Amino acid sequence: AIAGVAYIGYGIYEDRHPEPQTEPDPTKKTLVILGTGWGSVSLLKRLDTENYNVIVISPRNYFLFTPLLPSCTTGTIEHRSIMEPIRTILRSKKASVRFYEAEASSIDPDRKVVRIFDNSEVKGDMTETEVPYDMLVVGVGAENATFGIPGVREHSCFLKEIGDAQRIRKRIMDCVETAAFKDQSPEEIDRLMHMVVVGGGPTGVEFAGELQDFFEEDIKKLVPEISDRFRVTLIEALPNVLPSFSKQLIEYTESTFKEEKINIHTKTMVKKVTDKQVEAVATRPDGSKETIVFPYGLLVWATGNAVRPVVQDLMQRIPAQKNSRRGLAVNEYLVVQGARDIWAVGDCAVAGYAPTAQVASQEGNFLARLFNNMARTEALEGKIAELSGSLNLQPGNTAEISREIEEYERQLRRIKDVKPFHYSHQGSLAYIGSEKAVADVTWFNGNVAAAGGLTYLFWRSAYISMCFSTRNRLLVINDWLKSKLFGRDLSR
Ligand code: NAD
Repeated sequence: AIAGVAYIGYGIYEDRHPEPQTEPDPTKKTLVILGTGWGSVSLLKRLDTENYNVIVISPRNYFLFTPLLPSCTTGTIEHRSIMEPIRTILRSKKASVRFYEAEASSIDPDRKVVRIFDNSEVKGDMTETEVPYDMLVVGVGAENATFGIPGVREHSCFLKEIGDAQRIRKRIMDCVETAAFKDQSPEEIDRLMHMVVVGGGPTGVEFAGELQDFFEEDIKKLVPEISDRFRVTLIEALPNVLPSFSKQLIEYTESTFKEEKINIHTKTMVKKVTDKQVEAVATRPDGSKETIVFPYGLLVWATGNAVRPVVQDLMQRIPAQKNSRRGLAVNEYLVVQGARDIWAVGDCAVAGYAPTAQVASQEGNFLARLFNNMARTEALEGKIAELSGSLNLQPGNTAEISREIEEYERQLRRIKDVKPFHYSHQGSLAYIGSEKAVADVTWFNGNVAAAGGLTYLFWRSAYISMCFSTRNRLLVINDWLKSKLFGRDLSR
């Protein structure tokens, strides 16, 4: 047993010492991958990196398991439990991969270079440079849509990155502690304890549910003096929340929210935001309009995606992208239309699917298969050409060389062409608070809609199994147990 433990220990120790990064091989193509989100990391996970000089560029040196991000805003899960360092991911690859923590500011498809800059706090002498590519994968995701509504950027919190979740967590506790300040007026307590969420998509709904849990399970017990003032309001422009889910799940979510005392304002469009209030226009059943003002302590803005500037800039440089509005239009092989040697995956690509993690990861897997296949095909074709050339030079070996050529040709035939990308929808899941979840799942080619406590257990086990690594899985389970046993951590 001791020998076994020592062996495992040595294995982990050895594994912690990565191979030194080798210099790029001039005989191989340079594959540049932008981004470390669902699309890019799924591609990296399955890519045979020994076929290319692979360079990964992203301002974020980790992969983030976004489905559990709403749980980080209340401390149900600690943020580091859903982050996986990109360097750990790259360490497991056969051939070394270079990583630059940098933001791509522009892509020149004619010169085949990406302009990158270091936007971190610590700067070296070199802060901006160019990276040439032979093949480029754009997986930079999207940014938060604000539709140019005044005040949104200045006053609200988004929910896309780890920093957003940390900001929200701090802000909730700031509102609670300020509301509990000595001699605070009742109106001000009401404002501070009013948490407003704009956007009734899955992000807004999951966040509202988590927030209500936090209040019911922890804040209420620990800060009882202000507990009857806490309110969560969800504002949605469309007639119902979760528009992409089936009707019965929408109804279930809305009735659960009612029980949880989350106020839903549908058919209500936010028009303006100031530091203390949200102004919205509601459409009444008779079609008339009414302006409603919501004073708030915390405002979370979750109204979907907008195109990032680097993607907009690339679209302007490619005439075939002129009519595309929501991102880079790609063909069925995820090639950016009108460009050569550029592919796009995830939220920055428009392939006819919703911008979800599931789509992005399937696109990344697809590209890995495509690139592995391309490299194998090219290598075999190269060998055949080389041998065919030597046939005339070595007349004595003709039979042997012909046999070798035949063998390579057989291998080449065995490599099947990669079929065009096809998304296979596994289903949608969303947590809606008070240990209930909704699920639209594909089951034996049919759709199954489920909701409630059992679905919540399914939601938990599905997300645990989807976590990036065993380390992440253990950390998330530990966080769930910890918050259940000891309550969430209320420190700011
Ligand atoms: P979304 O685009 O799904 O929803 C945004 C909502 O905001 C829309 O319903 C829109 O009508 C509303 N809205 C827009 N402007 C408004 C305004 N001014 N006032 C009031 N309401 C306004 O956005 P999301 O929830 O961030 O999701 C983005 C993508 O990620 C979607 O494709 C979604 O399916 C996916 N996602 C899925 C899950 C999950 O499956 N659990 C979780 C998060 C995100």
